[in-house]
Amino acid sequence: MNDTIAIVGAGHAAGQAVISLRQYGHEGRIVLIGEEPWLPYQRPPLSKQFLSGELDQERLYVKPAQFYRDKDVELHLGTRVESLDLAGRQLRTTSGEHLAWDRLLLTLGSQVRRLGLPGADLEGIHYLRSIDDVRAIQPGFKPGARLVVVGGGYIGLEVAAIARKAGLEVDVVEMADRLMARVVCPEVSAHYRQLHESAGVRLHLETGVEGFDGDGRVARVLTSAGALPADLVIVGVGILPETELAADAGLDCDDGVCVDEYAVTSHPDVLAAGDCTRHPNALLGRRLRLESVHNALEQARTAAATLCGERRAYAQIPWFWSDQYDTKLQIAGLSEGYERVILRGDPASGSFAACYVHEDDRLLAVDAINTPRDFMQAKKLLADRPRIDPGRLADPAIALPETCRTSD
Ligand SMILES: Cc1cc2nc3c(=O)[nH]c(=O)nc-3n(C[C@H](O)[C@H](O)[C@H](O)COP(=O)(O)OP(=O)(O)OC[C@H]3O[C@@H](n4cnc5c(N)ncnc54)[C@H](O)[C@@H]3O)c2cc1C
Repeated sequence: MNDTIAIVGAGHAAGQAVISLRQYGHEGRIVLIGEEPWLPYQRPPLSKQFLSGELDQERLYVKPAQFYRDKDVELHLGTRVESLDLAGRQLRTTSGEHLAWDRLLLTLGSQVRRLGLPGADLEGIHYLRSIDDVRAIQPGFKPGARLVVVGGGYIGLEVAAIARKAGLEVDVVEMADRLMARVVCPEVSAHYRQLHESAGVRLHLETGVEGFDGDGRVARVLTSAGALPADLVIVGVGILPETELAADAGLDCDDGVCVDEYAVTSHPDVLAAGDCTRHPNALLGRRLRLESVHNALEQARTAAATLCGERRAYAQIPWFWSDQYDTKLQIAGLSEGYERVILRGDPASGSFAACYVHEDDRLLAVDAINTPRDFMQAKKLLADRPRIDPGRLADPAIALPETCRTSD
């Protein structure tokens, strides 16, 4: 097709969408509009090697600038879209520019959940979502500095791990009674607790943050268990899908921009992909919202295919990873609704898998801790929701596919 496709939001999904649109044969105009001043980039290193300074900014980019020139993609970076006019097929930027489009792809991502607590706007309190956030954190990210991380989820814990390696003093404050409680089972939480404690991180579980104190700059984090001294605070307490632009334009939203399996919103010529969407997944039999690179890339491919006239339904087993110290956690599937966990291997060895099993013996998800083979095999297996033999599953010497019952 030869029409104008505008992509709003120049993040990871947008970068993939541009690649796929040209690959699948879109010959018309592509306009990419992003609020951040940077080319589409990968966010995972922001809480890992980019924060520690081991990775250059150029290495984050999905593609170098030359790629967009070669593919004839018009870039409008540092530009926020303020409103969408679906009937008139136009969008308006905050600088008042109007841009006409024939079809639209929304890849708006997420925004961090902010703390509305006393002192939360003191200097030295940071969130971590963008390159600019990291640039603001780095000057205070120095050996000996006292860092308080608010939130014991994967981003907070990745930051804690990098900070210990860089010689900072680290406290992590978490409301729940265990780490990463939203995504992993108690056995995996316990393993990570031990990892962080032996690296010298002070964990404050079942502890709420009540405010911040300091003279212009944060000096103390006030918690339900007392005050913690702080030179630097990094808050990682979750994200919210970026839906305001879509909702204001009249698109259906429900904790995410609602799309179908082809990434089409409630308007037939407006698509959406990535963190901002709520989408159906036929393999899992329900609608969901995901915050992961895999989802951003695959849904962007689906959206590009739809825009190029192909019908390619998006239904894949979700997967995710987190790097903390030398430990790689890889999660395949969604554990929701599990009845029991079967461990493969001994956590004390540093390498094991936690398998989430439904009451009917079906395998729902696998957390692989330094066991990439289990992860790779689980990713393939889970689409069939296999029934497993619990005794065989508990034996790490038996490959995961051989622990499945063949009768069903
Ligand atoms: C620190 C960190 C670590 C992570 N680690 C992992 C990991 O280890 N593994 C993993 O799978 N995932 C990880 N993720 C999640 C992953 O990065 C996201 O799921 C992914 O970036 C989503 O891509 P996206 O394109 O949907 O959104 P984003 O990459 O967030 O891009 C959205 C873009 O849209 C822009 N935008 C929004 N509204 C407008 C507007 N109105 N006008 C113009 N532009 C707009 C935003 O500024 C942003 O640049 C991590 C995320 C973070 C922040």
